Amino acid sequence: MRIDILTLFPSMFAEPLNTSILGRAQADRKLKLGIWNIRDYSLNKHRVVDDTPYGGGAGMVLKPDVVVACIEHVKTVNSGPVIYMSPQGESFSQTKAKALADLAEFIILCGHYEGLDERVLEHWVDQEISIGDYVLTGGEIPAMVIVDAVSRMIPGVLGHAESAQTDSFYQGLLEHPHYTRPADFRDLQVPMVLMSGHHDNIRRWRLKESLRRTLIRRPDLLQERQLTKEENDLLAELHRDKDSERR
Ligand code: SAM
Repeated sequence: MRIDILTLFPSMFAEPLNTSILGRAQADRKLKLGIWNIRDYSLNKHRVVDDTPYGGGAGMVLKPDVVVACIEHVKTVNSGPVIYMSPQGESFSQTKAKALADLAEFIILCGHYEGLDERVLEHWVDQEISIGDYVLTGGEIPAMVIVDAVSRMIPGVLGHAESAQTDSFYQGLLEHPHYTRPADFRDLQVPMVLMSGHHDNIRRWRLKESLRRTLIRRPDLLQERQLTKEENDLLAELHRDKDSERR
């Protein structure tokens, strides 16, 4: 997969995207990242990239001539869609991360200040993605969120020990709790079933705990999901457990 990122602050990406799993994915050539400085496309002798908004008001707007020159250059090496990071975009989710991971390449455009000239959005941007209902100073951190979430969906990027398949949201549920050694930590015990070696009981316990967490923390996810017979039985068990606790 190839992802090219267009930004005014390339140095922000150096450490986060070259560390741990993302660094390894690049070293293993499973992921190729290109970081482009939008300022390099300004023809102005002072390398100006922004200007005041027409109609007045606070803040600066990124100039369309500079941003489009950068997009057009990057498109010569990446023919994927251009995605603009924007608080006004479609909400990012695990489903969206999976969809982007199916692409061979895409381009991420980071805004700053008040954002981009609207004509760039209308004619050079294919999608807008938001990472949440809040406003950040720039699209750099959202871009890192997208690259991280998408990269771990690329086959082979995560080793067996880091499998994405059981993670929260992947199957539409929150993941079950985890424990490790020591089995007794300050008189706090690990659930016996996890040390039983009985694989099917462990699988069923994990599924039940996953459903319990989802029911308590994110009941909306259960409504969106087609439950299997086993999951419905376990949910009924959870409701019975709750009723008997109340009595
Ligand atoms: N004036 C814009 C508005 O109200 O919609 C906000 C501009 S924001 C200060 C500057 C840049 O940060 C945006 O152009 C965008 O690239 C990025 N950004 C801010 N919040 C974001 C979010 N929640 N998701 C994705 N990108 C965001």
